[in-house]
Amino acid sequence: MEKDPEIEKYNISGKGLTAEQKAETSVYLQKKKEAAMKPMEGELEKTDEELKFIEKINEYLNEQFKELELDKKADLEPGSFHFLTPEAYKNHIPSQALGFYDAYKQRICMNKSVFEDKSIFYYAMLHEAIHSLSYQGFHQGEEDKDGIPLFNRKSGYRITNPENYHHHLGVLNEMVIEEIWRKIINKHARDISVEFNFSGRPNIIEELYLEHYDIKILDEIVKRIAEKKQEKEEDVWARFERGLFTGETMHLRDIERAFGKDALKVLGSLNILETDKDFSAYKKNYNEVWAYFLTEDQEGRDRIAKEILSKNHAAY
Ligand SMILES: [Zn+2]
Repeated sequence: MEKDPEIEKYNISGKGLTAEQKAETSVYLQKKKEAAMKPMEGELEKTDEELKFIEKINEYLNEQFKELELDKKADLEPGSFHFLTPEAYKNHIPSQALGFYDAYKQRICMNKSVFEDKSIFYYAMLHEAIHSLSYQGFHQGEEDKDGIPLFNRKSGYRITNPENYHHHLGVLNEMVIEEIWRKIINKHARDISVEFNFSGRPNIIEELYLEHYDIKILDEIVKRIAEKKQEKEEDVWARFERGLFTGETMHLRDIERAFGKDALKVLGSLNILETDKDFSAYKKNYNEVWAYFLTEDQEGRDRIAKEILSKNHAAY
């Protein structure tokens, strides 16, 4: 059978699946995607300016792919973006975040009217767009007790266990996305704010950047890997960024080589729970993990790792 990029991109896995079954599942997902492009109930019509920004998103991401030497094309269609009223968002979306990428239907939903500033809304669209273009892997299994035969096993670096649906490395995933997002905005902020009439708030990027996932942990990790491997930091970053889109994760072992055998597990223990309304549990978890990666000596790190990993992180 000839390789069809539309089929290949779904990366279907599953016990004993034949190539035909994988192709069938891919066609099914492709149909889901097309069906999900129809307007949703409670969807707001897109303005011409918003449509223009979606074109820009593709342009910026294609530029990024080229820099990373990736054979990949950003071709997001306006139909894949859905701007919803707060009521509609609440009805459709199982998350409290203001934007949501649904890998299964390959659509981006935004709770548009809660964004206080147009620039924040646009930049959040860009964040979700990076999610949607990151590597997606699907697991096709038998129908389980919840009637779920097919699910999104891998989205960028975020992995979900087919046995119990626990996921991990979701925060690493967000951090890599933030880094790419920041690079694009830093490069184009001036032009974007003129073209799209962004008002005031000159520090909006810094504000947003810190409000999201503080990536100082990943900064430290990249710095230490670069030291260990005698490489430029930008080359280490490029590996992390490429892996988000290609699904290549072998390089994550460098984290263990630089910090010790538990380092990836410690990083994987970072998790935001949907139920943690004020992020208090996450902040505590974050500070412990941050302390681990800041500690210079192996003995000290191992001690902190033991403490972090002894806790029952049921959801990780
Ligand atoms: Zn995100």
